[in-house]
Amino acid sequence: MRTKIIYSEKCLGYGQLHIENPERVRRTAEILKGLGYEFLEPQSASEDDLLRAHDTEYIWNLKKSMVEDPDTPAYDNIFEFARLSAGGAILAAEVGGFSIMRPPGHHCGRNGAALGAYTRGFCYLNNIAIAVKHLNKPTLILDIDGHHGNGTQEIFEGDSKVKYVSLHRAPNYPGTGNTSVGNAINFPLWADCGDEAYLETLDGALSVVNPNEFEVVAVSAGFDTHAGDLASLGLTEKGYREIGRRVAGLRKHTFFVLEGGYEGENNGKDIHASVKAFEDSV
Ligand SMILES: [Zn+2]
Repeated sequence: MRTKIIYSEKCLGYGQLHIENPERVRRTAEILKGLGYEFLEPQSASEDDLLRAHDTEYIWNLKKSMVEDPDTPAYDNIFEFARLSAGGAILAAEVGGFSIMRPPGHHCGRNGAALGAYTRGFCYLNNIAIAVKHLNKPTLILDIDGHHGNGTQEIFEGDSKVKYVSLHRAPNYPGTGNTSVGNAINFPLWADCGDEAYLETLDGALSVVNPNEFEVVAVSAGFDTHAGDLASLGLTEKGYREIGRRVAGLRKHTFFVLEGGYEGENNGKDIHASVKAFEDSV
């Protein structure tokens, strides 16, 4: 496997009792190591990197652990955990790798909760937005997490260099993404729609973007679409394999950043299924 996995055990140090817990990523890493993937350790993102995607006041408050909501606790040192996860996304962007760091990011907007959502949905910094802004190239963000990436949509609103495409379950948290707006093209799907309906929708989504308009594909890779997970769309390993193949078909510099996916065993297998198909098809 050529795709490098970006990971540091440091990301296991918070949130033991939360649904977004260390085990989901610890087990993922174990599976991918067993399959022979090469691992790279990330560095923390710089404050300049964070400020390209977030407002100064939000970063200031996060640093002091002063931001909290019912989904997204103010853990001790959460700023450092989040900064390392954002650094993982940046490294993935640079090397064309797959960051499996936590916390996830796509619900976090410029100032925290985005587009009218009440919480930040387990997210503290928008990792994929920070990485895309770090590269600063025309980019297609493909968000395959089962939830709509309201934070990412908000951060790139009106940005002519970036197109955001999301497939997600609706109705569901965070309640956004029911229609397309400007550079955000949204595809709400019904619960447990299954591989076939999902892939048909993905093909439709990719047919409306012009590959000549971008140089980079950034995948917000959430696996909570897996059958039985938090935002299940009834997907199986076969579905993730086909997603990998379609992403490869875009023939661009591509990187992946883990979002949701709450069952480590499935995450590991689904990541391998999509990455292997991606590599076999490029
Ligand atoms: Zn999700």
